[in-house]
Amino acid sequence: MLTQNLGYPRIGSQRQLKKACEQYWTGKITFDELNGIANVIKQENWQTQLDAGIDLIPCNDFSFYDQILDTSLLLGVIPQRYEPVLQVNNNKEIDLYFAMARGYQKDGLDITAMEMTKWLDTNYHYLVPEFTAAQEFTINNEKIFKEYTDAKNLLGNKAKPVLIGPVSYLLSGKEKEQGFERIDLIKKLVPVYADIINRLKQLGAEWVQLDEPYLALDLSKKEKEAFEFAYRSIANRVNGIKTLVATYFEGLPDNTQLAVNLPIAALHIDLVRAPEQLDEVLTLIPDTLILSLGVVDGRNVWKNDYERTIKLIYKAVGKLGSERVIIAPSCSLLHSPIDLDIETTIDPEIKNWMAFAKQKLTEVSELKKIAEGDYELLQLNKKAADARRSSQKVHKQTVKDRVAAITAADSNRTSAFLVRQQLQHKRFNLPAFPTTTIGSFPQTDDIRQLRARLKKGDITVEEYDEAIERATIDAIRWQEEIDLDVLVHGEFERNDMVEYFGEQLNGFLFTKNGWVQSYGSRCVKPPVIYGDVSRPKDMTVRWSSFAAAQTNKPMKGMLTGPVTILQWSFVRDDQPREVTTRQIALAIRDEVIALEKAGIGIIQIDEAAIREGLPLRKAKRSHYLDWAVAAFRITAGGVQDATQIHTHMCYSEFNDIIEHIAAMDADVITIETSRSQMELLQAFAHFEYPNEIGPGVYDIHSPRVPGTEEMVSLLAKAANLLPAQNLWVNPDCGLKTRKWPETKAALQNMVTAAKQARRQLIINAKN
Ligand code: GLN
Ligand code: ZN
Repeated sequence: MLTQNLGYPRIGSQRQLKKACEQYWTGKITFDELNGIANVIKQENWQTQLDAGIDLIPCNDFSFYDQILDTSLLLGVIPQRYEPVLQVNNNKEIDLYFAMARGYQKDGLDITAMEMTKWLDTNYHYLVPEFTAAQEFTINNEKIFKEYTDAKNLLGNKAKPVLIGPVSYLLSGKEKEQGFERIDLIKKLVPVYADIINRLKQLGAEWVQLDEPYLALDLSKKEKEAFEFAYRSIANRVNGIKTLVATYFEGLPDNTQLAVNLPIAALHIDLVRAPEQLDEVLTLIPDTLILSLGVVDGRNVWKNDYERTIKLIYKAVGKLGSERVIIAPSCSLLHSPIDLDIETTIDPEIKNWMAFAKQKLTEVSELKKIAEGDYELLQLNKKAADARRSSQKVHKQTVKDRVAAITAADSNRTSAFLVRQQLQHKRFNLPAFPTTTIGSFPQTDDIRQLRARLKKGDITVEEYDEAIERATIDAIRWQEEIDLDVLVHGEFERNDMVEYFGEQLNGFLFTKNGWVQSYGSRCVKPPVIYGDVSRPKDMTVRWSSFAAAQTNKPMKGMLTGPVTILQWSFVRDDQPREVTTRQIALAIRDEVIALEKAGIGIIQIDEAAIREGLPLRKAKRSHYLDWAVAAFRITAGGVQDATQIHTHMCYSEFNDIIEHIAAMDADVITIETSRSQMELLQAFAHFEYPNEIGPGVYDIHSPRVPGTEEMVSLLAKAANLLPAQNLWVNPDCGLKTRKWPETKAALQNMVTAAKQARRQLIINAKN
């Protein structure tokens, strides 16, 4: 029996790579220095995996920015617009590489970055390959060969080069012109893959890992054929090297037949996400294929439950024999924080239930030892698992009782939307096209430093609060001045829209170094939900009441919704996600009611992440949407008809989920639309979306200040599609990443645009 790892985090346990890249970008270090730091990280990572007893250790999983971008460079998939970058940089590939990742705005050039999108259902973002109809592929650089050679020097035949597989590479990209389908490029692409693999073989590689997560997704007939074609051709063109195809994040079900019959040496399956697939795989597997069991969760922070896992391993070994079984994490450990050992502030009882990437490697090799008869390891692990199962820190009967007692009535407002709308219009008496913002105002360095100084003890809580009060008052005065209709307090007191709530709720913990790469040098440190969630006291009432007292205009209360809190945290693996979400929903519901009691009449519950929680497989989506929508309705269902509930979502694809968005029954929804020129409103119009809606009229992702006319014309478009009396006027999203000057200019223009629209459009809409 072998063990393997599929990929290891490359940011370094102290985020060395992030810091080094940022220094290189600002010219503070040279490429040689950057490369030196990268080499140290690689060597350390390999050594760690070697020490942990892993038999097949990945290389070429390192990347300065993103491994899909690396693959584009390897294959020569470089959009033409970047050519000048090479010319001004003496053909230095690294500058081309970072230009593709981040855009290039110097030397008289102004070239946009490649599009970035989420890697399947993770929070990792990759750079989307751009294909043309005449796309050619070549071996364009040496990174994979160089990295393999380096790895081999340290690891010998344990070094296993990793590459995104040809089909998933094509599917992860997009067509940059019409008249062809990128999947048809497979014929041209495969020979280059075969050449790469042959060269790796010549350098001494015994194994090559090709990641094909798309093989575990819903596939068209053509895509299935592409898989068959690709791996048949590779098998025909290479020999003497073992190909491992890795699937993850989903199960194979309808693709099992296809997957197990590919002419490859080994297949990796994710038994954390989809343990149920094992039976069918074992039934259909031909008698030469090796099976890699992804049993250690690469996407979460919990210790493996060996007792449960070992049953899966025994089952596979029983059918295949131990020489045809490999033990592995479920997916690349890229998505886990790096090292639990360096965490010094986590409650030791809870820490004993956790494992980060480094600890997960140990779990993989311990599972192998247990499978070979070392039962002591099993007992030790069982003790931790049992302790967690019965811990008072995790289990709060009152929370469980409350969740069990949720009734349909809890998720329903008293009256239907049209009744509520009338009451709310009477209460707030807002003009047509009411203006508002999404919540946050610029988090300037001053504000951020306040928090850092408070943490260090340089200022007192009173001093901190006073400074935040001042920022809040300034923001309110300014909103009054430009004549916005519904004001916000600005969220100056918040570091992050999830962390702020997590810190105040029971059941959450925070790490010091639990960073995970989000994109490029950007890392996130998600909270960990370890126990039943409850709300010991009010969380936002202090700041919302303070703000409301400063003005006669309506002040919007601002909360993060349960699905978004769930989605942006590491969650419990000992109960279904939906149960954890319902617990959070009850806590937020209590906060909504507390805000209402404090006189806040308009409350926004942000659900920025509802869409990204959507399961990869279509068949699982409606179940998810049902509980996600239900959770939102629980948060909003406890208030009176005259209290106006807003929600906000910052993305732009609604076509496939519009009926569920409508089912949330928020009185007002604000969404991102400006970049799509209101196109996405089609979905709302077509559905005849009944409630009020604020389509974003300006893009907050860039410092650009949109003109009044531009926003009026967007509003006119919106009013053409939806009833004008239902429309609000607001930016795409919160303004915390912006600077004040551009924010002020843009919002001023926005208010002017709304006023103009009031004069022109209402009349048109009524005709
Ligand atoms: N209220 C939040 C803000 O304005 C919403 C942010 C978001 O949707 N990502 O910052
Ligand atoms: Zn947003």
